[in-house]
Amino acid sequence: MQARYVTRYSTAAVRRVVAAPLLTLPHCATVRPCPDQVILDFDHTLTRVHDNGNKCACTWEILDRSDLMPQMYRDETNRLRDKYYPIEIDPHMTIAEKVPYAVEWYTQAHEVLIKTGLKKQDLVNMVKDSTAQFRSGTDRLLEDLHRLNVPVLIFSAGLGDLIHVMLDQQAKDHDNIKVVSNYMRFDEEGKMIGFTDEMIHMYNKNENAVHSSSYFERLKGRNNVILMGDNVGDLHMADGVDNPNVTLKIGFLNQPSEERLAKFLDLFDVVLLDDQTMDLGNDIVSRLM
Ligand SMILES: [Mg+2]
Repeated sequence: MQARYVTRYSTAAVRRVVAAPLLTLPHCATVRPCPDQVILDFDHTLTRVHDNGNKCACTWEILDRSDLMPQMYRDETNRLRDKYYPIEIDPHMTIAEKVPYAVEWYTQAHEVLIKTGLKKQDLVNMVKDSTAQFRSGTDRLLEDLHRLNVPVLIFSAGLGDLIHVMLDQQAKDHDNIKVVSNYMRFDEEGKMIGFTDEMIHMYNKNENAVHSSSYFERLKGRNNVILMGDNVGDLHMADGVDNPNVTLKIGFLNQPSEERLAKFLDLFDVVLLDDQTMDLGNDIVSRLM
């Protein structure tokens, strides 16, 4: 399917963005045509929302839909999603209004998960048997960024353990990739007993430990950023970048509506409508090779 690009700029400008990214957006006029670092959301940004209309799981849904999880877990997570997802995508609420609901959702989801007694050794099969898959071309994008020595930060409110399994199974867990996410804690028998560190939800990607850690400190001077996300909260993933010059913000609008599109066009430089590929990212990076 042909990718559809929309921006708040003219169609001609969009074509130039795709043809010579980072050089042609109005606020990018003086920038070198090279990203110094790439910051990516994971669920439904690196991964597909659907494959020919068949829904593809995000990391949380890998667990929800696994036969290895008890029915109690599915019932509870469905109940939580029905309650909180409409709030997540409500275009009339501010992020500040949404934050307490996001914290409630994650806290309850974590508690239910701990009750299941999940086994670490089951994660590989859970991912293998799931519908979660990368957008076509994601493996190539990660491969090329590795070859170019561009640091990649995957900043996810999903589950880090499953992200690493997916990278191993469907792409490659390259050494230039850092995954900041929610990680499970297991006991000596491999039974899940909790989470490490602080919770990352979709709206605290600006205040997580990564921003006070040595990650961005080590990347000082790398101040041209490509950021990709599918949620307005993802825009804060680059808040920790030292002295940013340009951040090219690419938004995947996965459930297009007039209101959400208007909001995305306000906040992202390029908006992709129901695009299940990584073609735009690959277009940009292939010009640097
Ligand atoms: Mg996402």
